[in-house]
Amino acid sequence: MSEEKSLEERRAALDAIAEQIRQCQACPLHSARTRTVPGSGRVDAEIMFIGEAPGYHEDQQGLPFVGASGKYLGELLGQIGLGRGDVFITNVVKCRPPGNRDPQPVEINTCVPTYLEKQIEIINPKIIATLGRFSMSLFFPKNARISKIHGQPRRADGRIYYPLYHPAAVLRNPNLRSVMEADFKRMLDLLKEVEQLGGDMDDAPPPPKQLSLF
Ligand code: URA
Repeated sequence: MSEEKSLEERRAALDAIAEQIRQCQACPLHSARTRTVPGSGRVDAEIMFIGEAPGYHEDQQGLPFVGASGKYLGELLGQIGLGRGDVFITNVVKCRPPGNRDPQPVEINTCVPTYLEKQIEIINPKIIATLGRFSMSLFFPKNARISKIHGQPRRADGRIYYPLYHPAAVLRNPNLRSVMEADFKRMLDLLKEVEQLGGDMDDAPPPPKQLSLF
């Protein structure tokens, strides 16, 4: 779908989704939010990062990863020569769960098919990098443990799904820092790998249908 549309049309489609998110009242999270956090970055990003849910600062600003985790994510991107404007960053759910609690099944199962799936389809990234276990669970087996599978790419649907620790987990446990940084650096090789597959990637089929945690 995204291949047939111009960049301008894709940008308009992504903006339309962001606007729908701003108006959204489809799950209980809407009542406690300050601002929605649809996501930010390039519509033709090769790498799309998917975190868990907005926190306090994101809810205040309407932008993803702008607090301490975001600062670290920016550092990690800088280490591989990228900036936030080179990628697309979003979350599994687009509104802050009160008190930063875990997003609930009804919230995830409402938000993912309504918004995240459509964002993926429009952006059609070469790599989907999951940050933390909630987004990992959308694309990897339900019993997968992040400590076991982080940094291990899964090739499917004409792209690479790449599980990473959540930056907040690394900030809480500095022992994970070198592992996280090595996992991040590997993304450049993965990008080359996807690029070498050329036409196959251009014909990437739609993202997995089973974007559900539960
Ligand atoms: N943590 C997330 O998972 N997402 C954000 O946007 C910020 C912090």
